[in-house]
Amino acid sequence: MQAASEAPARSAEARRRRVREIGRQCRRHDVQTVRFLYCGNDGVVRGKACHVRFLESYLESGIGLTVAMQSFTMLDQLVPEGAFGPVGEIRLVPDLDSFAVLPYVPRAARFLCHLRTLEGEPWAACPRAFLDRMVERARARGLELRAAFENEFTLARREGERWVPIDRSPCFSTLGMDAAATVMTEIMDALVAQGVQPEQYYAELGPGQQELPVRFAPALRAADNQITVRETARGVALRHGLVASFAPKPFPDQAGNGAHLHFSLWRLGDQANHFHDPRGRYGLSEAAYHFLGGVLHHLPALVALTAPTVNSYRRLQPRMWSSAYTAWGPDNREAAVRVPSLRRGREMESTNLELKPCDPAANPYLALGGLLAAGLDGLERKLDPGEPVLVDPDTLDEAERRRRGIRRLPASLGEALDALERDEVLRAALGDVLAREYLAVKRAEVRGFEGKGVEFEIEHHFLKY
Ligand code: GLU
Ligand code: MG
Repeated sequence: MQAASEAPARSAEARRRRVREIGRQCRRHDVQTVRFLYCGNDGVVRGKACHVRFLESYLESGIGLTVAMQSFTMLDQLVPEGAFGPVGEIRLVPDLDSFAVLPYVPRAARFLCHLRTLEGEPWAACPRAFLDRMVERARARGLELRAAFENEFTLARREGERWVPIDRSPCFSTLGMDAAATVMTEIMDALVAQGVQPEQYYAELGPGQQELPVRFAPALRAADNQITVRETARGVALRHGLVASFAPKPFPDQAGNGAHLHFSLWRLGDQANHFHDPRGRYGLSEAAYHFLGGVLHHLPALVALTAPTVNSYRRLQPRMWSSAYTAWGPDNREAAVRVPSLRRGREMESTNLELKPCDPAANPYLALGGLLAAGLDGLERKLDPGEPVLVDPDTLDEAERRRRGIRRLPASLGEALDALERDEVLRAALGDVLAREYLAVKRAEVRGFEGKGVEFEIEHHFLKY
């Protein structure tokens, strides 16, 4: 009894301490404005800011936001048939642990926020609350998802009406590293300063393309980190007169920008990787295979969350190393789920699965929440992922793919949304309000790009992601 009544008092004290520490950091860095950020159904990062003098009061109440923003598309249009319009208000309520002084904007700091009702409850249309619920669902099984988005992005400059990549260097070349060195070094410093750990870096295949994998973290923090990476790369590039674009297919005939999602489940009890079994095939446990079975089973619907733009489906084509079929295989870079080979001496830590049909235009809270819902359904129902595919699945003939249960991924956002609408497990996990609004926003985006041509499509995706 006593412990239960002490806990809230302790956390109120911890909160006060945290708020004081935030105040100290603001003074030390002479912060003037503090941004309250969120990522909506359209995947665009938005927010409002307050002057630091009013920060404490807004930490308490949150900053007001019209409900309409969850019926907004990436074309900045309100969906006419959306549930939310000009009447109604929610609050951007900061996660105090997400505070960071922004190294790439003078005198600014930021929080990542929950969308809360006026009463302070999680709002049914809040993507971060959805991920919270899925994290709880795993926790109830004694499990925690750890993940990292492996981002690719394009550095380019505006020349007249065109986006021109900063270089056309060969894949993984030092030519490419040198061309991007000043800006990439600054991006990595800025990430470290915000508590995100860049782990590797290389110049990728596409023109001006960079890849920057960061260290894995528990699901909610991994999603927050994804917002930090996108914001930081773009913010630093801007200071160099460049644009860092996370558009899934920035140039229609070149390599796409993926955000391959690496993930593993860890046991809360003994802090061991639940996917790891040295005796299992490819070092994977039975639980890992069931989780994988769930991901593959739901994949045609899941991609509506992980590859969520019209532009995303130019990327999900065969021979692009982005995947086009519901196949899995060891170190198979044309499979939707690759089982990465283990790192010698770090076997348990490095056991993970890599979802390739995921791109950086995704709202990371929706992508990770959807992945958890799909995988946990696989665990629950002990779903079988089928046999591994050891070749490019596109080279198998159609009959062979059918025999193995391998399906083509949706070829357009419209098809993916149809699959999501049919997927009762994912829809129920999202909840009625969020599922309905997500589908409405994304259907409106499909209509918004219809008949507008590839240039219009690239222009909008290049800038907003
Ligand atoms: N650029 C590829 C994609 O669109 C990925 C290439 C790779 O890293 O294997 O996902
Ligand atoms: Mg890559």
